Amino acid sequence: MKIGIIGGGIGGLALANCFQQFNIPYTLFERASKFGEVGAGIGISESAYTILKKIGLGDDIKAKGYFVEDAIIVNKDCETIRKLPIKNGGFCIHRAELINILSYKIDHLNVKFDAEVESFITKKDSVELTFKNGCSEEFDYVFACDGINSIFRKQLFPHVKKRYSGQTIWRGIATCPLPSNYHSAYLEFWGENLRFATIPLNKTQYYWYACKISEENIQDNKATLNADLKNLFQKFCKEVSEVIDSTELIIRNDMWDLEPHKEVWYKSKVVFLGDAIHATTPNLAQGGCQAIEDAYTLSKIIHTKGFAPENFEEYYKLRNEKVNYIVKQSWNYGKISHQSNKFIEFIVKNIFKYLPNRIFEMQYQKLIDLHYLNA
Ligand SMILES: Cc1cc2nc3c(=O)[nH]c(=O)nc-3n(C[C@H](O)[C@H](O)[C@H](O)COP(=O)(O)OP(=O)(O)OC[C@H]3O[C@@H](n4cnc5c(N)ncnc54)[C@H](O)[C@@H]3O)c2cc1C
Repeated sequence: MKIGIIGGGIGGLALANCFQQFNIPYTLFERASKFGEVGAGIGISESAYTILKKIGLGDDIKAKGYFVEDAIIVNKDCETIRKLPIKNGGFCIHRAELINILSYKIDHLNVKFDAEVESFITKKDSVELTFKNGCSEEFDYVFACDGINSIFRKQLFPHVKKRYSGQTIWRGIATCPLPSNYHSAYLEFWGENLRFATIPLNKTQYYWYACKISEENIQDNKATLNADLKNLFQKFCKEVSEVIDSTELIIRNDMWDLEPHKEVWYKSKVVFLGDAIHATTPNLAQGGCQAIEDAYTLSKIIHTKGFAPENFEEYYKLRNEKVNYIVKQSWNYGKISHQSNKFIEFIVKNIFKYLPNRIFEMQYQKLIDLHYLNA
């Protein structure tokens, strides 16, 4: 059996780890010359952590990540609007560390770098990939883990569209001392139609992000970016300015997802995973976690039942409901948390403040649910 994994991001690497665990052969193709990620943090949910433990990476996440006990929505003066129930907490980890952890156990003989798939043809019993260097190779199955701009999705499901949320996000890692209430909690500040969040990476470093409503593709002036962001958040408590001041590299992304769709996650001999088929806005910090859950679910099914369309269908059915829920909730969260009208902002904050805890508990339970794995 000849199997290709396309993409060495969180999803492709998680899949390579799972395949290795289940003795499924593979070759992973990554277009970059090495594995890598942007200089920012990433949240690992309780359920993704459970999966990472199952594939032998739990101790590394525990050692290199930072355990975050609480998630609190606060106002711009850092006064609590609502504490969110995050049951057993989660981890925040530097993205580069996560990629290191996901990559160091996989057999590097199975990895090809500088290997961008430029085009492909699906045949009756195989998929033929053509790489940027002109070489072509045929595979029995291909696993498309090539992210939100997946060439496989664009060709096989052309009507599945990217959707712009109308929001942009800046991210960075700040090295600075902050008061103790910042040490163990994920704090998200709401106010002035803006959002800012700090999540500890260790005792002195904080992953942070800042969001605002924006048109897409606006370019920052790098020379004045820190000052411009401080200016944008000038009405927020002084720690926000300190965090921005203490950051060397700030990254900006517009927030996109894939519009919810009804396509199953395979076609011909191509099976999809992660952002390539269900990218979500980052508001619930779930995209990478869901790619990890996809990888384990898919590998377990292949291991027990083999490669067959009905088994890929089962994978899709097990995963689709949860993922759709997350994509929708994350989209809604982004819309609710940015209100330009002061009156609506007041109403939203109060609804958020006084909604019964069980509603948030129920939502959170859905995010971390892994019962589908026992089906
Ligand atoms: C601002 C922001 C914050 C986020 N925060 C969180 C968070 O806290 N928690 C969380 O779980 N998720 C978070 N996410 C989402 C998470 O980053 C993504 O869901 C995750 O990276 C998706 O992984 P992936 O492997 O599916 O795709 P990608 O990470 O996009 O990886 C795709 C890989 O495929 C390679 N590739 C692409 N095309 C080709 C080709 N043709 N040939 C060969 N290789 C190719 C790329 O180089 C890349 O390495 C966030 C996202 C954003 C934008």
